[in-house]
Amino acid sequence: MPAHTADALILRTYRYGEADRIVVFLTEDRGKKRGIAKNATKSRRRFGAGLESLTRGRVSYVERETRDLVHLERVEPSVSPLGATAGRTDGAGAHVLGQAAYFAELLDEWAPENAANERLFRLGAAVADALCSGGSADSLGRYFEYWLLRLEGVYPALEVCPSCGEARLGAGAALSVADRLFICSECAHGGMALGPGAMAFLTQAGRRTPAQAGATRVDRGALRELEAVHHRLIAMHLEKELRSARVVRELRPGS
Ligand SMILES: [Zn+2]
Repeated sequence: MPAHTADALILRTYRYGEADRIVVFLTEDRGKKRGIAKNATKSRRRFGAGLESLTRGRVSYVERETRDLVHLERVEPSVSPLGATAGRTDGAGAHVLGQAAYFAELLDEWAPENAANERLFRLGAAVADALCSGGSADSLGRYFEYWLLRLEGVYPALEVCPSCGEARLGAGAALSVADRLFICSECAHGGMALGPGAMAFLTQAGRRTPAQAGATRVDRGALRELEAVHHRLIAMHLEKELRSARVVRELRPGS
């Protein structure tokens, strides 16, 4: 039974029986894993506060050849969203925890099982670090969504309007939902609008680290525009993913 120790991000956990928990975690070297944490509700020595979503740390686990579930031995947290709530007001602390859970859920949707994706892990880990060290949860959210979609190669182009060919999307654009493109304000007829502030945020996101993105003050209205557009893009992207996953399952022999 091979034992592993890896840098990992905790994505989510759920109860399993009386005292155990199932833990979904993303390792740097071997992708997403599902493990059983025996006695997790009682053993603070082995798991402590290390099972909160988006906690980063060293995870020790044992793989069993015939089972999908690995056996989770220990989590030693290094960065935790719980720690990041100290010093924030109740409302701000709850917002950080909610955002951490959302980031973890996105990673869970994005990460393939048992296949390493080093760029995805590094992005998730850096965003978690920035959030936990006091970065703006909203700026980091929009930054993270942008990079997740970009890593998949599905983020719309930010400069040249595909309708008129002019490099003027920076002055304002709208999402054309049908073809998932940004169209300049002159060409757009309706659609979800992104003002100059939102477009500037996106252009800068391509060059910034998560720590820089989390430390940048961004106009609230621009963040709301980006949130609406990103949630739409993600919903479209994941729906396609989930449908293809179902088709693959249905075509699998023996199903
Ligand atoms: Zn145009």
